[in-house]
Amino acid sequence: MERRTRVRFAPSPTGPLHMGGVRTALYNYLYAKQRGGDFILRIEDTDSHRFVPGAEEYIIEALSWCGIRPDEGVDEQGKVVSERSEKHPHAPYRQSERKPIYRQYAEQLVKGGYAYYAFDSAEELAAMRAEMEGKGQTFIYNYATRGQLRNSLTLSEEECARLLEEKNDWTIRFKMPENRVVAMDDMIRGHVEVNTNTLDDKVLWKKADCLPTYHLANIVDDHLMEISEVIRGEEWLPSLPLHYLLYEAFGWQDSMPRFAHLSLLLKPDGKGKLSKRDGDKMGFPVFPLKWVNPEGEVSRGYREDGYFPEAFVNLLAMLGWNPGDERELFSLEELVEAFSIERIVKSGARFNPDKAKWYNKEYLRKRDDESLCEDFMPILAEKGVQADKDYVLRVVKLIKERATFVQDFWSIASYLFVAPTDYAEKDVAKFWKEENYSLALQVADFISSYDKALIKEEFEVAVEEFIRSREWPMGKVMNCLRLALVGASSGLGIADIVCLIGLEEFSRRVAAAKATLC
Ligand code: GLU
Repeated sequence: MERRTRVRFAPSPTGPLHMGGVRTALYNYLYAKQRGGDFILRIEDTDSHRFVPGAEEYIIEALSWCGIRPDEGVDEQGKVVSERSEKHPHAPYRQSERKPIYRQYAEQLVKGGYAYYAFDSAEELAAMRAEMEGKGQTFIYNYATRGQLRNSLTLSEEECARLLEEKNDWTIRFKMPENRVVAMDDMIRGHVEVNTNTLDDKVLWKKADCLPTYHLANIVDDHLMEISEVIRGEEWLPSLPLHYLLYEAFGWQDSMPRFAHLSLLLKPDGKGKLSKRDGDKMGFPVFPLKWVNPEGEVSRGYREDGYFPEAFVNLLAMLGWNPGDERELFSLEELVEAFSIERIVKSGARFNPDKAKWYNKEYLRKRDDESLCEDFMPILAEKGVQADKDYVLRVVKLIKERATFVQDFWSIASYLFVAPTDYAEKDVAKFWKEENYSLALQVADFISSYDKALIKEEFEVAVEEFIRSREWPMGKVMNCLRLALVGASSGLGIADIVCLIGLEEFSRRVAAAKATLC
């Protein structure tokens, strides 16, 4: 029987979700949806020292903004599910709430000889490490050293029983086999082999807080939640041999998921992992949403920077995957259709902030004017402008091609709402010369007395005809008029501006420019 596709995104709530994390979630989601399978969200919060308040909510909100909806793990209100139900058969989905589950599995491994109790305190291990480093060696808790350490492999049964009873900082460690080659298959990287002598005896469970470590909890939960594929970041590739051996030790090889490790998102210059500092330095976000850390430090987000979620999802999908042809624009539904693990690249994906903007520009152009208008109205209100919707709609239609973000509308077209209060000095020096403005003011008189309906095409022809028939320099005259209307020589065509602001406002602005500049 074909196995049902069940994948999971398993973030640890240690801070805001990096855009690389969102990409991991997205690829999992696409993989599941393409196969009619389930996408599960599981919160891996067993490391209480690294827990950051608000991070879990942030992760859920970020996924929801992107339109990535988990089938299991989160309820309609966006809360992580604790109660088992038909829709959420594997609840709780927060590992801290699954605490009682894990110990028995760790003990099972001890019984089977795959793990052991370790009694060395953190101080003893630190001393051991220092001693070996003093001799120019590195300390690894593994086959070579465990025979000299205090654990259930070296101590008598009675001594062990006593320590288990008396001490409360013992751990259960995995007994990494000596000199074994673990052969693994990765859906992206292919066949990988690792000799176990390079690996250490990882802690699986800690008596101090009665919690599992990542490795144990992750494997146990992937098994219990019937995960069919694990798609995650390549930082977990070094853990894969251990995970393989854990499946083997539990006797779960037959239902072991397949693994795919995604390459990193790289800095724009391709040298190293894309970090928040790169974003701060070069002026782009690396987080989906704005984040304020507990110390009050603010990190910008794609959402707050004005990106459309569709653009963000599209640009993320293309960082490390391609459809095999020239297409670049994909909706989430189209991605579900087109996605394939085979077309994920093995090498790191270089982030290009200009390309990110390009995506937003494309989505802005595709967006309907009504919704752009709705997004622009609050910005206008913030600027203290009261404009009616029809007017704003006309403006949006005219300027959307020039903008990358909705907030650009204001810088592109503020003069369609408020008269300029100053005039760009450079442009004044260049264009506001008597031989030009004397002509421009005559054109202005002609415009002010224009007595037909203001229909852009007709009006434009009439004005140009007026200038051309007198053989006046079109560009210079128009630039003078634009200076009066816009405050600079750049901007929309005179006819477009006049048809929007009207003849009365036109005359007012020309008079003001004349008073200030002549
Ligand atoms: N909790 C791990 C993380 O934060 C999950 C790794 C995995 O997907 O196995 O990335």
